[in-house]
Amino acid sequence: MDMKKTIAIAAAAALTLAILPVTACKKTQEDKRSSYCINAAYDEEEKTLSAEVDFTYVNDTQNEITDLCFELWGNAYRRDAKYSPVSDAQASAAYYAGKNYGGEEVQKVENCAGWEIGGEDENILTVTLNEPVYPEESAQISISYTLSLADINHRTGVARECVNLGNFYPVLCAYTEEGFAKTPYYSIGDPFVSECADYDVTFTLPAGYVAATSGKQTSSSTAGDSVITRYTLENARDFAAVISKNFKTTTRKAGESEITFYYAGQEPPLSCMNAAAESLEYFSSTFGAYCYPTLSVVYTGLSVSGMEYPALTMISDDLDEQTQQYTIVHEIAHQWWYAMVGSDQVNRGWQDEGLAEYSTVCFFEKHPEYGFTRTQMLGSAIKAYRAYYSVYNQIFGKADTTMNRSLGEFASDYEYINIAYNKGLLLFETLRTSMGEEKFFKALTDYFNSNRFKIATYESLVAAFAHYHDVEGLIAGYVDGKVVI
Ligand SMILES: [Zn+2]
Repeated sequence: MDMKKTIAIAAAAALTLAILPVTACKKTQEDKRSSYCINAAYDEEEKTLSAEVDFTYVNDTQNEITDLCFELWGNAYRRDAKYSPVSDAQASAAYYAGKNYGGEEVQKVENCAGWEIGGEDENILTVTLNEPVYPEESAQISISYTLSLADINHRTGVARECVNLGNFYPVLCAYTEEGFAKTPYYSIGDPFVSECADYDVTFTLPAGYVAATSGKQTSSSTAGDSVITRYTLENARDFAAVISKNFKTTTRKAGESEITFYYAGQEPPLSCMNAAAESLEYFSSTFGAYCYPTLSVVYTGLSVSGMEYPALTMISDDLDEQTQQYTIVHEIAHQWWYAMVGSDQVNRGWQDEGLAEYSTVCFFEKHPEYGFTRTQMLGSAIKAYRAYYSVYNQIFGKADTTMNRSLGEFASDYEYINIAYNKGLLLFETLRTSMGEEKFFKALTDYFNSNRFKIATYESLVAAFAHYHDVEGLIAGYVDGKVVI
């Protein structure tokens, strides 16, 4: 995510208190993954998405699995939700038509021994399988559900010009040492952690709608007043879409991939389309190839500046040109640090946000024509971080400067932005100056290669850098909050 739009608001509130070839993501024989086959129909009048998911679970754990757990992210939008999907600072911008609600209702689950909705906030669907699934074996279930969409400029909802379909289906929870991780919808950060899977998604939309999706279109047909379009995507940890009756599109080639810009208003500025294509090429040649055949850059109603999904990024349609450039590059960097290389976004939010921010610095440093300089970007991160530190010391007596903590342990967007984005960026800058240019980028390439399509641990990030230089102490100093910035 990019939260630049909220910084000013949150800061003000706080202060008043005081070109490479694409490598295919294709499955190999040994490389079996779970898969989602989703059939979803949008009802414009009702603002609902009715869908069926045929989910094939492949047990890639070492344990026998008897139950599967899925996140029902859409339920955070319901009236009685304990966890709001947007923070107080974003709420008025997000609920553009006043407070209203949605929800995700599961109608039935087939081919199972039973199912129930539970979790901390009715956010978890637990399905008991007919029989245990042993390692490397698979099981198939089918879930029918209806997603009701609130009028909201946020990840999932009817925005002013478009319908945002982020997190629109039951997503298998990531499996950890403690079993499936059941995370509530924290409004701060991106509370989503999931394993890579394959997708086969069919949308039935009223005629006239255009869909921007994570997938590559494989077929399209009309039936009465509807258009039925099918998409596929392999080896991705999520699948998102944005639909609109007003979308126009412009397409650009970047390496072997195709970037399509979707917008309801004016065509994006040339500089922003260039920034998208050039950053995709720069990150491919610096860290490792972008592996998806397409990338959708979608301008839509959003209360933050941008939001990343595999092969799709949502960009707020309400940004000035320079903020658009920055946001697009930050979100495209997430294709490396989040989409291809996953991490624990709930407990280590800085691991992908810090890297996305620092990759953005590296891109603009190589492309001075955009007008951002490394000195200026580092300067503004330091300045913002020090302001946060001083304000939080005044308010709470002591600012918590630790980085490895849950999204639930942050007091505000403002604190999260400064720890995950600004301090994260500064940690990577310090690593680069201590290790030297060559070793720093080699370490990042190693980190990319050894964690591609996985959920990278904190330890694997440390190990990638420590392989080239004695930096464990330096990283720990930042992460444990001992370093003074
Ligand atoms: Zn981000």
